[in-house]
Amino acid sequence: QHYLERIARLDPTLNAFITVAADAALDAAHRADATLKRGDAGPLTGIPIAHKDIFCTQGLRTSCGSRMLDNFIAPYDATIVERLAAAGAVVLGKTNMDEFAMGSSNETSWYGPVKNPWDTTRVPGGSSGGSAAAVAARLCAAATASDTGGSIRQPAALCGITGIKPTYGRCSRWGMIAFASSLDQAGVMARSAADAAFILDEMAGFDERDATSAALPVPDYVDALDDDLHGLRIGLPKEYFGAGLDARIGDVVMAAIKEYEALGAELVEISLPNSALSVPVYYVVAPAECSSNLARFDGVRYGHRCANPVDLEDLYKRSRAEGFGPEVQRRIMIGTYVLSAGYYDAYYLKAQQIRQLIAADFTRAFEQVDVIMGPTSPTLAFPLGSKLDDPVAMYLNDIYTIATNLAGLPGMSIPVEPVAGLPVGLQIIGNYFQEARLLNVAHRYQ
Ligand code: GLN
Repeated sequence: QHYLERIARLDPTLNAFITVAADAALDAAHRADATLKRGDAGPLTGIPIAHKDIFCTQGLRTSCGSRMLDNFIAPYDATIVERLAAAGAVVLGKTNMDEFAMGSSNETSWYGPVKNPWDTTRVPGGSSGGSAAAVAARLCAAATASDTGGSIRQPAALCGITGIKPTYGRCSRWGMIAFASSLDQAGVMARSAADAAFILDEMAGFDERDATSAALPVPDYVDALDDDLHGLRIGLPKEYFGAGLDARIGDVVMAAIKEYEALGAELVEISLPNSALSVPVYYVVAPAECSSNLARFDGVRYGHRCANPVDLEDLYKRSRAEGFGPEVQRRIMIGTYVLSAGYYDAYYLKAQQIRQLIAADFTRAFEQVDVIMGPTSPTLAFPLGSKLDDPVAMYLNDIYTIATNLAGLPGMSIPVEPVAGLPVGLQIIGNYFQEARLLNVAHRYQ
């Protein structure tokens, strides 16, 4: 009731939710209450959460922020939705997002932009801007999100909350609408690392329905939260503190990192020499995979269908032209181009080779250090509309987050001191399957 009242009061301004499931949430809350009274509560019984609208929810619309899926009601739950429900969580609704998770400002959503709760003239970040704003404005206790190139960490930073993108394969992708399958990963946005740990404990783990799911045991993330940090080696990549970074962000991020020295950690300067290539590589690989994944939206099986098609080709063309917004169309065209005969070797193959070099930079770094720290985003939350006409400026906002996805590593963002009244995120990157360590490091700061 408390959260539903806040949503009714604040969301007309923030636009963080695409769908609010008030009746179903209250029913679930009553059932949770009964479970608690019977004394057989699950780990998340009665905890009100929201799901990013990229996760399929049975009987509850899943739009992925697109006109294409405005009418789509999934016949099944995504694995993580199913697991959180089994743990007792109550679903308040589905959160707004950039269309098909393509964007860094939540302005590509068919349902209109989300506003940053700290300053409603500014963006919340993206693509998980709805989940970030909803958690920041206390419209839910926590929210699920997805991160293909920074979409959990960058909005977490811009909205002043905690977000974790686990290792690729740690959480199931089954029932999460695909954008770029080799990069997509589900994760959590919450008020603290401790809250995120409780939720990730339930979400993570092997799923035979996802072919790239990792068949590894899941440690208890909550158990590790208070571990001692003496001797922790923190790597500071010099490439993450150079030109392009707002100096005020650099200062508060460094001040936060210095606090870890007081907790017994040691700071080590490192280099990730291929960092500058991560944005261009990502914008070949991600569009290539998206052009293939989004081919399924053809107006035939599900999603938007144009009126009165004259033949099959007209049906495909008009359904896709009407159903997809300009950014999604741009990505499909780039992806189709880089995969086409004659260009495949020049772009796609080369990008895959450089992707290996980017991953190797991290492998070398993790021989020297336990975690890597730096800023999450080079800028503060920027004014709505300010980067809309310049896709490359928008893409560069993900300069510090994208390499992690290309390498498949876990990363998180936690709030540090604000600058000019706006939140700033510290990014913490770990080696493969080191989520427990990341949450522990974040928790000790908080
Ligand atoms: N901003 C990036 C993009 O537009 C990342 C999005 C994401 O992580 N889903 O592709």
